[in-house]
Amino acid sequence: MKHIDTARFCKEGAILSGLFTPADLPRLAEEVLPATSFSVAWRAQGGAPNFLDLTLQSSVQMKCQRCLGAMEESIDVSYRFQFVADEATAQAQDEESDDVDSLVHARQFDLQELIEDEMLMALPFVSLHETCPNAGAIAFLPAADKPNPFEVLKNLKSMA
Ligand SMILES: [Zn+2]
Repeated sequence: MKHIDTARFCKEGAILSGLFTPADLPRLAEEVLPATSFSVAWRAQGGAPNFLDLTLQSSVQMKCQRCLGAMEESIDVSYRFQFVADEATAQAQDEESDDVDSLVHARQFDLQELIEDEMLMALPFVSLHETCPNAGAIAFLPAADKPNPFEVLKNLKSMA
């Protein structure tokens, strides 16, 4: 748990940074390729009057939706948030401006939860290799060397 007093954090221009692992971010761990590890390097800096700058750097293993192989996604994002007094103000401000997301001031603001939320948002909606390594290998085989799929199936059956 990483909690901050947001008003003080911003006023003092405080800086916090650290490294989170799958144990710290279980929701993110569920989205990446199972049984793969990652680390998220994060840095949060407060700014007067009510700003929070968040930087996230990570590299996670995702499953390619085309070949189902592993692929690495590099995440390197920065966000600026503005703290406001209450939820109604936050909503009104978010409708006005696309540049800065509003958050509600809290004495015990959960920075870890924000970092996990933003990591989940930063993941691509669909992960695809630019060129799937396995599909590429098959395409480059000379045609004659390609096994006849029906022949393969027959062999499999006779083995059973
Ligand atoms: Zn692929």
